[in-house]
Amino acid sequence: MIVHTATVLAADTVTDLLVDTVTGVAQGNLRTPGAARKVAGVSYVGPDFEPPRPPRHPLRGPLTVAVAALVPGALVGWLVWQTVGDSGGDAQASPSSPSSSWGRPATPGASDDGKEQPGDSGGTGDSEKPGGSPSASAPAGSGPLKGKVVVIDPGHNPGNFQHTSEINQQVNIGTNSKECDTTGTATNDGYTEAKFTLDVARRMRTVLEKEGATVKFTQDGDRSWGPCVDERAEIGNKADADAVVSIHADGAGAGNRGFHVILPGSVHSGAADTRPIVASSRELGERVAGSFLRVTGSAPSNYIGGGTGLDVREDLGGLNLSTVPKVFIECGNMRDSKDAAQLTSSAWRQKAAQGISEGIVSFLHG
Ligand SMILES: [Zn+2]
Repeated sequence: MIVHTATVLAADTVTDLLVDTVTGVAQGNLRTPGAARKVAGVSYVGPDFEPPRPPRHPLRGPLTVAVAALVPGALVGWLVWQTVGDSGGDAQASPSSPSSSWGRPATPGASDDGKEQPGDSGGTGDSEKPGGSPSASAPAGSGPLKGKVVVIDPGHNPGNFQHTSEINQQVNIGTNSKECDTTGTATNDGYTEAKFTLDVARRMRTVLEKEGATVKFTQDGDRSWGPCVDERAEIGNKADADAVVSIHADGAGAGNRGFHVILPGSVHSGAADTRPIVASSRELGERVAGSFLRVTGSAPSNYIGGGTGLDVREDLGGLNLSTVPKVFIECGNMRDSKDAAQLTSSAWRQKAAQGISEGIVSFLHG
C-alpha cells in the first residue's frame, strides 16, 4: 500500500480528470465510495499515514493531458486482453514478446480465477516457501536477460511496526519531506503487506534469474526496518538498473478490488527529476500491467485509474528520486475479502510474480 488517504485522494483526482476529459469513459462506478474514506483511516494510524498530497491544481493541465492520452490506449488494451484471454495475445507485449516459455501457465495447479487449490493452505501463507530457489542470489545466467539488472523493491518491512520512530523520520523526496517509510497494510486476518511483498519479490527473483538477469533487492528480510524511500530509490540508481519494480498491496475499503500500476509523473523539484524516466517507466508499467492481468486473470482496479490499471503520481519518493525506469504495483486490496483470498494464496502469488516478471522481460526485450 502507498498510503490510504493519499490513495483515496488519487482515486478522486484521477476520476475527476477522467470525467472531465474523456468522453464516454466516465462511469458511475469510478467514483470512490464514501465508505472507502472511512475504512481508509481506521486501522493503520501513525506511521502508515503520509501527509496529504500537495495541491494538484498546478498539475491539472499536464496531468489531464497525460491521463486523457493514457486512457484510450489502455482501454483498447484491456478489451484486447479480455478478448484473447490467455491465448498469448498480449497487446502490450508484442512485437517483442518474450520467449515461448512465457506462454505456459505460471502455476499449472492453480485455477484461472486464482482460487485456492487442494493442498494450498491459503490463510496467512506465512509458512509457505516461495516457489523455487533459495533467496540467496544466484549468479547471473546466460539467458536472454544476461547483462540486464533488475532491482526489486519489496514494499515496507515486517520490522517497521516495531520501529515507528525510525520510519517516521523525515526524508527529502525532492518535492518535499516525507516519512522514511510506512508499516504497510494487512489483511483482516493479519497477513501483512510486508510479508506479501517479500514473498512475491523472491518468487520474481527465481523467475528473472532463470532468464539470466542480475536481480538485486532493496531489502530481503535482512534488516530490522526500512530502508527509507529515498534509499530504496538510491539502490536502484546505484545499481544502474534497467528496470525497478516496487511491490505492494493496497489497503482500501472492502469492495475496492483489482490491481494497479503506479507510474511516475513528471517531477522536477529539488533532488527529484523524473523527466528522463517518465516515458520509459510508462512503457515498463504498461507491460507489467498487461502481463499481470493476463497471467493472474485479475481485473484492473475498480477504484483507481478508471479501469486502466494505471495511475500516475508525483508524490512518491521512491519514484521521484529514481533515475532509472521504475514503477510500483499494487497487486490487490488486502482489505477486500475476495482480493485477500488471492493475496494469501501461494498459488496466486506465484502467478503474480510470474506476471510482473513477464512484463519486465517484455520491457527489457523491447
Ligand atoms: Zn505498500
